[in-house]
Amino acid sequence: MGDQSFKGADVRSQQTNNCSSDSEAAMVGFLAANKGGRFPGLQHANHDLCGCEHKPPTPNVSTYNVSTSSLSAFYLKHLVGDRGTDCKYVGGLEVGALNHPAPVPDCARDGMLYVDQVGSSELHALYPELRNKSITSVQLLDDGNVLSQVPSASRGFLIASHVIEHMPHTLLAVESWLRVVRGGGIVLIRAPWKCISFDRSRPVTSWSHFMSDYHRGVDMDADVLWLEHLPEWTMSHLQHLCGTPGGTVGSGCAAHFSSWHSHFVDRVLNQNFMRRGGVHFHTWTQQSWLEFWWRAHRALGPKVPFRVQDVGVETLDDGATDLFAVLSRKHGS
Ligand SMILES: [Zn+2]
Repeated sequence: MGDQSFKGADVRSQQTNNCSSDSEAAMVGFLAANKGGRFPGLQHANHDLCGCEHKPPTPNVSTYNVSTSSLSAFYLKHLVGDRGTDCKYVGGLEVGALNHPAPVPDCARDGMLYVDQVGSSELHALYPELRNKSITSVQLLDDGNVLSQVPSASRGFLIASHVIEHMPHTLLAVESWLRVVRGGGIVLIRAPWKCISFDRSRPVTSWSHFMSDYHRGVDMDADVLWLEHLPEWTMSHLQHLCGTPGGTVGSGCAAHFSSWHSHFVDRVLNQNFMRRGGVHFHTWTQQSWLEFWWRAHRALGPKVPFRVQDVGVETLDDGATDLFAVLSRKHGS
């Protein structure tokens, strides 16, 4: 298949630039009740969280939580806690660590299980740009959307750092991640904030889109799913490269677009690359991230009871800014 099939693909258009009409107050109430605490930064986040019109974040303005000095501190904070030196959670699993395994504290390193869809040598082949980097040794081959090889309630914690945006079945992935964690265990998720990434010019993925993907299940034709998400990805990257984020592609970019078209379609359909994780399927702003977890809790809670222990945006001392969520699997569920 080539360019023609791409143009003829049934492209869904379920994404939006607008947040839902659900009130922020309701979400804040939900989060406070779930966490039993406050989200002090949220009250200060008075700019347009639905879009990207606001300035880049500063820790005191647009983070929901106290800024963490480093990624290691983030994992230390959640796996060990403020006091003590022993891990509260052990027997972890990380999905898609690639060349950036999470810097978990020493007490959590034993028993870590690294899962990816393909093995380390194939990852090297798929990501030639990482040829000089060390890729985490993959211990279990499994699809991160479903983790069918991982028994339920078998892990103390799960880490998915910059993985959720690569999951075509986002909600199913979250459900699976919660399923494999024991009661009382936690799921630590980090994701890119679209406004400061190459996804900036893309629409925000709507909740209805996530639900649509969820209801279609994992058995649908993979090529169809990829082709549906591909135009938005391709266009946004072209806009990024052409320097017109949010705008239309100028004539100077037309040639690029044509070649990118063919290039990506070829990689998806013939080289089987994109289905292995090269694409950001979905995007989040600060507000839509909050809304996502509010709604995910309602949608998935009956199946895999959990609390949203913490959620927000975090700016590290090195300037990296991520969306994050910490989910806690309920005991006895
Ligand atoms: Zn989707």
